[in-house]
Amino acid sequence: MFLSSFLIDFDHYLNAVRITKKFGFFSALKFYERLQKKEEKEKEFGIKKKGIFQPFHTIEFHIFVLALGLIHEVFVYVFLGMVFHSILDFAYLAYKDKLYKREYFLIRWLIEKL
Ligand SMILES: [Zn+2]
Repeated sequence: MFLSSFLIDFDHYLNAVRITKKFGFFSALKFYERLQKKEEKEKEFGIKKKGIFQPFHTIEFHIFVLALGLIHEVFVYVFLGMVFHSILDFAYLAYKDKLYKREYFLIRWLIEKL
């Protein structure tokens, strides 16, 4: 449960590697610092765009992990850690007025991509 409560954010790192083509952790951090500055400037001009898609943070992925709990109970604890993380993410995004940035549904993201 503890591990899953922060390893869920591994999709942030995977996205940074995919976009920057660099595997370094600090290059990923720099990528997100630059991205955050860009998004804050856009927000100043009233531009509210969705952020980079984070598959591990979708409702469907949470349900998938919970379903894996039918196979082995460890996945139920993984699910609980993910839910704890997602509640904190949601509260942070609400506090920062950034709820619009996240795609919460894998199916909606797939439909938009098609
Ligand atoms: Zn997160």
